[in-house]
Amino acid sequence: MIEAVGYATSHSFTGLKPHKFERDDAKPNEVVIDVLYCGVCHSDIHQAKNEWGNTVYPCMPGHEVVGRVSAVGDTVTLHKVGDLVGVGCMIDSCRECAPCREGDQNYCEGPNSWLATYNGPMIPAKKAPNEANRYNRDNTFGGYSNVLVVPEDFVLKIPAGLKLEAAAPLLCAGVTTYSPLKHWGVKAGDKVGIVGFGGLGDIAAKMAIAMGATVTLFTTDEEKLEEAVRIGATGVLEKKLTEEVDPTNPLTRTFDLILSTVPKKHDLNPYLPLLKRDKTMVVMGDLGPLEPINNMQTAFHRNGVAGSLIGSIAETQEVLNFCAEHGIAHDVQLLDIKDINDAYKEVEKGDVRFRYVIDLATLNAQDAH
Ligand SMILES: [Zn+2]
Ligand SMILES: [Zn+2]
Repeated sequence: MIEAVGYATSHSFTGLKPHKFERDDAKPNEVVIDVLYCGVCHSDIHQAKNEWGNTVYPCMPGHEVVGRVSAVGDTVTLHKVGDLVGVGCMIDSCRECAPCREGDQNYCEGPNSWLATYNGPMIPAKKAPNEANRYNRDNTFGGYSNVLVVPEDFVLKIPAGLKLEAAAPLLCAGVTTYSPLKHWGVKAGDKVGIVGFGGLGDIAAKMAIAMGATVTLFTTDEEKLEEAVRIGATGVLEKKLTEEVDPTNPLTRTFDLILSTVPKKHDLNPYLPLLKRDKTMVVMGDLGPLEPINNMQTAFHRNGVAGSLIGSIAETQEVLNFCAEHGIAHDVQLLDIKDINDAYKEVEKGDVRFRYVIDLATLNAQDAH
């Protein structure tokens, strides 16, 4: 057993506090990672507060993890001690279903789906009676901790040229937006709309621009319009769009892809007339029920509304490499782990455009009990 310490919440309203626990020793195919940085994702807050109704307490979030390999199991060949590595939203999957065999681990159809880095298995009710949890406890503990143990093929390599703290948010926010840009084939000359200018919208815009697309950012915040220009996009205030199709709106039927990064339910209908024929709006910011879609809008131009969930392991490596190559990163603000509960409040208040990243050097083992 590995003695470990992190920050966990014991109930939906208690906030995060120091928590001592044990991690299993590395199996032959696993690596032990000393955590250096961990991004703060809006999902962490949803999960800590049981807003998806599936949280198992204590809950230790963190799925944007960057660290250094401190030990490897006997059969590990992909990583060695001293390597700088990353861990994203998944630490395992069934490895047998069609999506897993095709490299789409994030769409695993196995009985437990993919194993989330924290609070996994995501849906404990799916577990067969008496089936031993793969990690020998009710839920996995994430990267708000000093150490992580993960199968080698779910561990990413941090390429040279990426600042370590800026690499962390790419492991969730980055791949979540990279995956649909790639899947829907964004290429030079395309026009991409991005709804919401928080951590996801920011990196999505930067990546689409690096792919050669022209990017329009839709935001509810007037102050962010200048920021949009600063990163090379055009900013449009959401309130300028109305549900009524305005034939004079110059944006009508000009977009090849629109991504919604808004972390809550919102009306998609004002955006549908902006799509060209056969093009799609992809919702990745929120997992709940959508506002009703007016099929008058979608049918007349054969438009689609689609979902997309994080990204595969291969795509996670690709997004790290892509951002290193193009010099793209989130704007990050380092966080002392003691201030995590205040940071949550700020993230909840509005879409903080920078990403908070916990500096795990601030985690003092003496605090835990
Ligand atoms: Zn996340
Ligand atoms: Zn699978």
